[in-house]
Amino acid sequence: MLPVVALVGRPNVGKSTLFNRLTRSRDALVADYPGLTRDRQYGQAQVEEHPFIVIDTGGIHGDEEGIDALMAEQSLMAVEEADAVLFLVDARAGLTAADQGIAEYLRKQNKQVFLVANKVDGIDADSAVAEFYSLALGDKVHQIAAAHGRGVTQLLTLALEPHIAELSSEKSHEESDDDIDEVDYENFDEESVEAPEENDKIKLAIIGKPNVGKSTLTNRILGEERVVVYDMPGTTRDSVYIPMERNGREYTLIDTAGIRRRKNVNDVVEKYSVIKTLRAIEDANVCLLIIDAREGITDQDLSLLGFILEAGRSLVLAVNKWDGLDDSVKDRIKSELDRRLGFIDFARIHFISALHGTGVGHLYESVEEAFISATKRISTSMVTKVLDLAVFDHQPPMHNGRRIKLKYAHAGGYNPPIVVIHGNQVKHLPPSYKRYLMNYYRKSLKIMGTPIKIEFRETS
Ligand code: GDP
Ligand code: GDP
Repeated sequence: MLPVVALVGRPNVGKSTLFNRLTRSRDALVADYPGLTRDRQYGQAQVEEHPFIVIDTGGIHGDEEGIDALMAEQSLMAVEEADAVLFLVDARAGLTAADQGIAEYLRKQNKQVFLVANKVDGIDADSAVAEFYSLALGDKVHQIAAAHGRGVTQLLTLALEPHIAELSSEKSHEESDDDIDEVDYENFDEESVEAPEENDKIKLAIIGKPNVGKSTLTNRILGEERVVVYDMPGTTRDSVYIPMERNGREYTLIDTAGIRRRKNVNDVVEKYSVIKTLRAIEDANVCLLIIDAREGITDQDLSLLGFILEAGRSLVLAVNKWDGLDDSVKDRIKSELDRRLGFIDFARIHFISALHGTGVGHLYESVEEAFISATKRISTSMVTKVLDLAVFDHQPPMHNGRRIKLKYAHAGGYNPPIVVIHGNQVKHLPPSYKRYLMNYYRKSLKIMGTPIKIEFRETS
């Protein structure tokens, strides 16, 4: 379970600067897909190899209207769901009434709050931050300069300390792809890359913004399939995990909508939580992203898509509520899909009606295909052969009068498949050529439903 860090503070204290610094490494992944921009509020970050979710709450103003009224619902939930809250103040501007308003709110939350004085670069930090002790939050005012990265790693390490210990013990049970990267080609033993058993359970997360039909689909799936166990506690923070079986394949359905709650007489529709969704994506093998045909593709859909790609998860798209639409409307939706999601050329698209069950049965084929693609064994000789063919068909460009050379490749891991390519001047390889290679690998290895990650290594 990924820990969540929420950034809180009045406007202009440096939240987005800190957010960008923490999530920056993810830019590269999203940049592979023109048309997609990183979510500026939710992101995945890493401190010393430990991933976590970071949220720029943005919506807190601490105005006299009362903070609750001003906070966006998701920001409020973010604070509630966070494992650690970083409360940023501006060391240059000094203590303000807005800071006091936020502090008051945070003190009422039963949360681990770190009071963080930002912008300590080039000032007498110790005397500047002294007045913030009066906010009485924690025993220390942490000093950082987000714009320069000063104090940031230290702060995050501290904030995540309890969770990092937990994560490290989980991680040691997993296969380590990191080791594989260190293997040099001559001595590379592809048997050392463990592919998961084909018979493994597929963890399938049903992802989508509110009202796209997640619960309807989950109910439909469960109504038709044999439900092995269906009695798991759902909390606001966590998804419901439902084991099930289909065609001899075991699945765990990760239900972010919390259908269980709707079976209650009072029928309280569970609150939509971005954090819950992010965690479900991280935990899944395959994500089924649902889009509402009646609304078209919205920014929220694109942002969820971005999370799925960033996490390197397999993807199947389902356009729901396909029932009762005129042909002209269907055509319009299809051309919109082409225009706005054409860059996701690796994912299968299904047109379904969760309400009537139309098309739902075929989803499994694509889910299974995506899972197998993501986890199938690809050999070093195979990836090198494909590289040779790709380079033969279309050579990499020149850089500074010398041709960029790609020499050999090895399989770097699974889920998603990682291909590591060794060569000279690889950092000058243009994105268009990287995309060309990606497509070449996709077609030659018949990989569908999952992104392929290509990493480049400079050899001498
Ligand atoms: P937000 O409104 O809290 O998201 O604040 P921003 O991240 O947009 O930052 C507000 C302003 O503070 C920007 O002009 C930043 O460049 C500046 N800023 C952020 N961090 C630092 C820092 O560490 N040092 C200095 N000197 N300026 C900073
Ligand atoms: P969730 O918030 O994503 O779990 O969405 P729900 O499953 O609660 O569905 C939201 C609304 O859309 C409900 O009124 C459903 O009856 C309706 N709905 C869901 N699937 C379909 C569908 O395939 N066709 C039509 N016409 N309506 C649907």
